[in-house]
Amino acid sequence: MKKIILAVLIGGFLSSSYAQNRTNYWQQHVDYTMDVNMDVENYQYTGTQKLVYTNNSPDALDRVFYHLYFNAFQPGSEMDIRLQNIQDPDRRMITEDKKSRIAGLSESEIGYLHVESLTQDGANVSFQEEGTVLVVDLAKPIPSGGKTTFEMTFKGQVPVQIRRSGRNNADGVALSMSQWYPKLAEYDFEGWHADPYIAREFHGVWGDFDVKLTLDKDYVVGGTGYLQNPQEIGHGYEAPGSSVKKQKGKTLTWHFKAPMVHDFMWAADPEYVHDTLQMVDGPTLHFFYKNDPKFLETWKAVQPMTEKAMNFFNRNIGEYPYEQYSVIQGGDGGMEYAMATLITGGDKPGSVIGTMIHELAHSWFQHVLATNESKHEWMDEGFTSFISALCSNEIREQNKENPFENSYKGYYNLALSGKEQPMSTHADRYDLNFAYGISAYSKGAVFLAQLGYVMGQDKLMETLRKYYEEFKFKHPVPNDIKRTAEKVSGMELDWYLTDWTQTTNTIDYGIKTVEPEGEGTKIIMERIGLMPMPIDVLLVYNDGSRETFYAPLRMMRGEKENPYPQIERTVLPDWPWAFPTYDFTINRPISDIQAVVIDPSQLMADINEENNVWQAEE
Ligand SMILES: [Zn+2]
Repeated sequence: MKKIILAVLIGGFLSSSYAQNRTNYWQQHVDYTMDVNMDVENYQYTGTQKLVYTNNSPDALDRVFYHLYFNAFQPGSEMDIRLQNIQDPDRRMITEDKKSRIAGLSESEIGYLHVESLTQDGANVSFQEEGTVLVVDLAKPIPSGGKTTFEMTFKGQVPVQIRRSGRNNADGVALSMSQWYPKLAEYDFEGWHADPYIAREFHGVWGDFDVKLTLDKDYVVGGTGYLQNPQEIGHGYEAPGSSVKKQKGKTLTWHFKAPMVHDFMWAADPEYVHDTLQMVDGPTLHFFYKNDPKFLETWKAVQPMTEKAMNFFNRNIGEYPYEQYSVIQGGDGGMEYAMATLITGGDKPGSVIGTMIHELAHSWFQHVLATNESKHEWMDEGFTSFISALCSNEIREQNKENPFENSYKGYYNLALSGKEQPMSTHADRYDLNFAYGISAYSKGAVFLAQLGYVMGQDKLMETLRKYYEEFKFKHPVPNDIKRTAEKVSGMELDWYLTDWTQTTNTIDYGIKTVEPEGEGTKIIMERIGLMPMPIDVLLVYNDGSRETFYAPLRMMRGEKENPYPQIERTVLPDWPWAFPTYDFTINRPISDIQAVVIDPSQLMADINEENNVWQAEE
C-alpha cells in the first residue's frame, strides 16, 4: 500500500478505573514457609516446607497435587520424550546433531525433586510421584472454607541448564532456581490443574512466601521477595553506608518474604555484581550480573531503561504493586518470575533491553493478572508482546508507524501455513513449536491491537486499565477481558473472542468493484473470510482531499468513535455478517477518485491485503 495513504495511521495510544468483582469468584490461598540448604559443590539441596492451605472453593477436597518440575530433566521424562518426537524442537534443548540434551544427562547432571515425608495436620498421608506431579491422598478431606497444614521434607538436584532453570548457564551463572520447590497445583472453578511439565507454561496458587536459603557465603542471591536480614547479609543489600554484621561459618542464611505472589524464584552466583536504582515514587530496582567486562556495557545500559519501562507500564496498565523488581542475569533467554526476571545474552545490550521490556511487562500480564498460561497462553504472551511493543516504540524511540507490524506478519505467516491450531489449544498440545509461538505471542498481540481497531484505541487502553484494576491478584480468563472491553465500549464482542481465539477462521474483506452510478460512484465490498469485522474505508480524491466511511458490524450493536478525527467520517448502515457483499454510493464521480482503501490503519488482520485497495488507472 502507498505510503501517502498510510499517513492516516493509528492515532494516540494514550487516556479510569473501577473496581468490581466477578460475581461468585473465589480462589485458593497458600502460605509457604520453607527452609532450604543448598550445597554449591554438588548442586544438591534439601528443604522443609510448611504449607498452610486455605480451601476457598465450594468443594471438599480429598486429594491435592504438587508440581515437581525438576523431574522433567531426566532421560525418559515426558519432556524428554516430547522433545524427541516434536518436528521442530527448541534449539536450546537439543545437541548439534539434533538429539535431546535431556536424554544425554548423567546421574549427577539430571534434575530431580523428591518429597521424602509429608503430613497433613500432623497425620501421615499417602503420596505418589508420577513424573513431575506428586499425587497426595489426604488423611482427611479439606472442607469448603477449611484450612489445613502440610509439612514436608524434600530433596533436589539442580539439573545442568536445559530449559529455564539449571546450573551453569550459557553466561556462566551458577544457579538459576526457577520451578525448584514442591509447588501446590492450582484448583479453581475448572477443577485441578496438575499439568505435567512437558514444555512450558505455568499456573499457581496465590499466597505468601517466607523462604530461608542457606548457601556458601560468597554467593550473591537475587530473586522474588524482600530480604529480611540485609544487615547480616550485605552483598549490596545493606543500608547505604552502613556496616554489615560479620557472620560466623562458611554459609549465610538469606531470609526472604514475598507477599501475594504465585511463584518464588531465586538465582545465585559468587561473581554477581549487585546494583540498585531507587525509583522516584516507585520500587527499588535491583540488577545482578556477572562481574565480567564483556557484560558491563549491557548491564549498565539496561538500568535506566528498566526505570523508563516501569514508568511506561505504570502509566498505561496500572501501578506496579510491589516495592522491588530485579533484573537478573541467568536462565536461558528471558523468563518472567514474581518480582523478577532471568535474562541471558549478556554481551548484547539491545537484545537484553528488548528482553527486559518484555519480561517486565509480564509483571502485569502473568505475575499480577495471573491467567492459566497453559490454557490461555495468548493472554500472557500476547498481551505482553502488545504492551512491550508500545513501550519499546516510545522509550527506545523507535517511532514505528505500526509497532505491531511483526506480530501481524507472524500471524499471516501462520494463518497461511496450514499449520494453525485455535488459540484455545493447550500450550503443550500444539503440533509444532512454530504454531504455538506465533499463536501465543503474535496472534495474541494482534488480539489486542485489532481490538483497538474494533473499539477504538482510547477505549482499548481504558479496557486494559480497567482489566488490571478488576482482576489484579486473580486468575482472569478470556471472558474477563471480553466483558471488560464490552463494558468500556458498549459493544457486544462475543463474536470477536470466539472467532479469534476458538477457531482458525480468517478475515478477508475486499473491494469488489468501484463503478459509476448516475452522477456518483458505487463501491461494492465483499466478505470472503469467515470471521466478521466492522469496516473502515478511506477514499482519497485526486484533489488531495480525503474522507472515510464506516460500516459497523450489525452483531456488534455499537459504533466506535471516528479514529481519524481530522478526516470527515460518514457512518453507513450496519453490515450484517451473513451478507457476502455490501455497497454504498458517494455523490462524487468516479473520475474524482484516486484510491479506495479498506482499513488504512492495517490493524484489521486481513490475510489478503491485495484486494483491500482499489486505485484509479493512471
Ligand atoms: Zn513472554
